Amino acid sequence: MSNSNPQHPMVAASPSTHGQPLAEADAEAFRIAQDEYEREATGLELIASENHTSRAVREAMSTYLTNKYAEGYPGARYYGGCEVVDRAEDLARTRVKQLFSAVHANVQPHSGAQANQAVYQALLQHGDSVLAMDLNHGGHLTHGHPKNFSGVFFKFTGYGVNPETGRIDYDLVRTKARELRPRMIVAGASAYPRAIDFATFGEIAREVGALFFVDMAHPAGLVAAKLHPDPVPHADAVSFTTHKTMRGPRGGTVLCKEEHKKKIDSALFPGVQGGPLMHVILAKAVAFGEALQPSFVQYQTQVKKNAARLGERLLERGFRLVSGGTDNHMVLVDCRSKGLTGKDAEAALGKAGLTVNKNLIPGDPEKPMVTSGVRIGTPAITSRGLKEAEIDRVAQWIDEAMAARNDEARLAKIHGEVRDFCRAYPLP
Ligand SMILES: *Cc1c(COP(=O)(O)O)cnc(C)c1O
Repeated sequence: MSNSNPQHPMVAASPSTHGQPLAEADAEAFRIAQDEYEREATGLELIASENHTSRAVREAMSTYLTNKYAEGYPGARYYGGCEVVDRAEDLARTRVKQLFSAVHANVQPHSGAQANQAVYQALLQHGDSVLAMDLNHGGHLTHGHPKNFSGVFFKFTGYGVNPETGRIDYDLVRTKARELRPRMIVAGASAYPRAIDFATFGEIAREVGALFFVDMAHPAGLVAAKLHPDPVPHADAVSFTTHKTMRGPRGGTVLCKEEHKKKIDSALFPGVQGGPLMHVILAKAVAFGEALQPSFVQYQTQVKKNAARLGERLLERGFRLVSGGTDNHMVLVDCRSKGLTGKDAEAALGKAGLTVNKNLIPGDPEKPMVTSGVRIGTPAITSRGLKEAEIDRVAQWIDEAMAARNDEARLAKIHGEVRDFCRAYPLP
């Protein structure tokens, strides 16, 4: 595990016993870290919301900045000694504003869910009505699930995709918006394989006098690379996760218009969170810096090419894809086309060293713990260097593993092949 935190030079250099490397200080915890490295290195991560961070991002997360309390914002903190971490937060904010041509950025959200919570808290009153993507059609828990804070405090109504095309029905969104006159319209999804037309959403929101919020958690990296429509010019606020296609540390960010910046910042802190994770904010700065490089555009271009190729190859093998294909980094497979539930497909692929997640598909008759679909994404395997030719091999393994779902020996044999293949594609 030469790339991992335990050997971080700053940690290893400390002379006290408190400064022992993890491997010596806590063998049990070290084993877990090593086992996760092994798991990631010897299988293929096809979960659309995951990625492989760079060494630089992981190193930033293991720095001394984790020790620092910094409630407040740069230049206005509730603690002394913030002059160094202020530079980290300023660097992250400057870079992300440049990346997305945004007026204001808040890089403190611990997660995408907390970024969304801050946006709702800043711009809505409890009980306000919100129009968002239906959870069964690819929306996120924070878009109104009854057990999530969003569904508890606000009145969500869902819009969905056209059952025939699998694409968002913008006419239906407009009709529902006119009927409902919501305080806010939310665009963005966790399992939608097509580009989202933020300009049309923005028009609809303006027509009905609603605020427009975009949760671009999934396609943020593609947006940064200008390979997906850009929500920033159209939305009052935009949130995203930094760990999906953005390939940074786990966390969230909110971008917003000038007129909302005070409300958003104070909703995030002290509204939703306490002290920010300054080591993670440093890592966000590193990831945003990486995203400003031309190599990031090349990477995202390949992510999209790989997803398109995977879709084509699966269609050739008789799989049904929701919407018939993809414009982004994922495909949504209807496993019924191969006689499986999403749950059984996830299990079979897992035994073959191919990690995916089961996912509801539009009109799914199954429960969320079973589902009829699996979501398959290319961000992580593209970070390892897989290109079209290797994607063909991945499609073959997916097909073989799903066919061999009751054949443990065959699944183990495929896992062996995947493991051998992975040797040529080490983790970053
Ligand atoms: C992943 C995701 C989130 C939440 O991110 P967490 O960091 O898991 O809280 C929010 N919205 C959408 C659309 C997502 O896909």
